[in-house]
Amino acid sequence: MPLIAHPAPESGESPAGYLLRLADINGYFDLAELIDESSSLGKYRLNSCMDSLSELAAQLGSVNHFELLSPKSIQHNANQVNSLPFKPVLIRSPRICPICMAEGANIKAEWHVMQITHCEHHHEALIDHCSCGAKFTWDEALLSYGCSTCGKAWCEFEETKQELPSFMEVFFKLEIQQRANFISDITAAALTRVRPYDTIVDSHHLKPKHVVSWLELLGAGYDLLTKPAVYEQWLSSCALVRSKFKALGNRAVFYPFYR
Ligand SMILES: [Zn+2]
Ligand SMILES: [Zn+2]
Repeated sequence: MPLIAHPAPESGESPAGYLLRLADINGYFDLAELIDESSSLGKYRLNSCMDSLSELAAQLGSVNHFELLSPKSIQHNANQVNSLPFKPVLIRSPRICPICMAEGANIKAEWHVMQITHCEHHHEALIDHCSCGAKFTWDEALLSYGCSTCGKAWCEFEETKQELPSFMEVFFKLEIQQRANFISDITAAALTRVRPYDTIVDSHHLKPKHVVSWLELLGAGYDLLTKPAVYEQWLSSCALVRSKFKALGNRAVFYPFYR
């Protein structure tokens, strides 16, 4: 099913966003319709993981390198890209910066990364739903206009001008090579706030459906890493709860935070 128009993705474009752009240019109603029509190419769904959608994009569009559809603002190594903080918590529904959209930007791959809660360019919170309450969907209005439910245009979304949370402020100041490690650390800390004494780090508990507010959870994780009163309280509660591990040494008692 060759598409007549298949421009190349922009570097750092979201795989789903790029497919939506292909759908739009080629006259499909929305991404779901393009995926439906592509059933001969493989089992793809609207909520397929980003890797699957990248594969589909490579079949339908002009993708000469998968890097094109990866976040530009983080550099992962091969281990990190498949590990806890990244893959399991990539968000699959649209999450965007309305100010970028009003400026005509394409949907960025990093907006799928749950731990990145704000737009680096505008410092605006990324949103997955409109002020009317409707969740954004992968439809044509998302690219060209705004909310397909109430008709609010991207240019009508006001800048909130709220302060960046500390963890995002620090994140944006890091070199891109350091950012994957920062995301690993803050994710481990966030998980520790949810399940303070688990010794097995389990990505299941960080799946989007289990986390009500990533902003709050990541903020709490950042506090655990940076505020002495918070980490001292956690350390002393660990010493108590995990006292039976003492024979194994401090590493076992204070896992995953021990130097
Ligand atoms: Zn923006
Ligand atoms: Zn709306």
